[in-house]
Amino acid sequence: MITDSFNRTHTYLRISLTDNCNLRCFYCMPEEEYEFSAASKLMQVDEIIALAKIFVAEGVNKIRLTGGEPLVRKDADKIILALSQLPVSLTLTTNATRLHHFVDVLKEANVQSLNISLDTLQPDKFLLLTRRNQFKEVFDNIQLMLQNNFHVKINVVVMKGLNDMEINDFIEWTKDTPVHVRFIEFMPFSGNKWTSNKVFTWQQILEVVESKYTVTRLQDDQHDTAKKYTVPGHKGTFAVISTMSAPFCEGCNRMRLTADGKMKNCLFSKEETDLLTALRNGENVLPLIQQSISSKAKELGGQFTNDFEHLHAEEIHNRSMITIGG
Ligand code: SAM
Ligand code: SF4
Repeated sequence: MITDSFNRTHTYLRISLTDNCNLRCFYCMPEEEYEFSAASKLMQVDEIIALAKIFVAEGVNKIRLTGGEPLVRKDADKIILALSQLPVSLTLTTNATRLHHFVDVLKEANVQSLNISLDTLQPDKFLLLTRRNQFKEVFDNIQLMLQNNFHVKINVVVMKGLNDMEINDFIEWTKDTPVHVRFIEFMPFSGNKWTSNKVFTWQQILEVVESKYTVTRLQDDQHDTAKKYTVPGHKGTFAVISTMSAPFCEGCNRMRLTADGKMKNCLFSKEETDLLTALRNGENVLPLIQQSISSKAKELGGQFTNDFEHLHAEEIHNRSMITIGG
């Protein structure tokens, strides 16, 4: 078991397959001229599987693939199929632009649930937020996944003045469509133009929804990052991921592996542990994993608290989101 000094057992690994992406969401990947990592720096298929097996032998039972955009990687299908042989629940977070190429692979790998990012239901705003004109592909692929009976969660990063006015449009979407919308509070990462006054909090989101709908709270699962709700009669549900105003670190069971093979014990950790180099040198990787987890901070990487209104983004030492893997 991979247990930290606060007695939290870590059973969930997020693996980033690449820091490359075909969209340019400004809150994730700030500069247009950002240089993606060379392929040789990234974990290769056999290295991903070898590292995943070490984690699984220590009790990991859930793996999420992420990025960058995991599905722009040319060997994404091979990785998905190989990981599906492990005794884990396998899932992924994707921008959905390329999902239509992966329906059969995902079915074969027994992937049942997908997190899809979509911050707006307006094509012109999609272009503004992602700097790419691909709203139609994303929306069509969400329908395609629903038709193929995948459980679809929609990640919406809510930013004040940008898309907070669309919250109830997303709720309306859940009326006849079985999508599970998750509103995410805007988080600070290296160079992503975060300021505290752009955060639209859990409380504010609920106020907006409750101004129009009757809302029922749903039971949260043990390690849930999301506070879940439903509007009675709607086919879908909604939830809020309140990282900034009400962090959920107490029940954290998550670890991350960046595409270049560095372990992060928290999304906001300053420290990284280089597992890939150790693996390539034939060293024993497990003690490094255990060391990393034993130094995990109690909350938010030890870098800030829920008093985010006084936080300045430049005080936080971290990578940009696209190089971590959300
Ligand atoms: N490309 C995939 C996608 O967009 O779903 C996977 C990687 S992306 C980094 C993973 C998730 O992180 C997405 O849902 C994205 O919206 C979220 N994210 C990125 N930057 C964020 C930020 N600053 N605050 C909150 N969520 C963020
Ligand atoms: Fe790409 Fe996802 Fe980041 Fe957008 S949020 S730039 S789709 S990795």
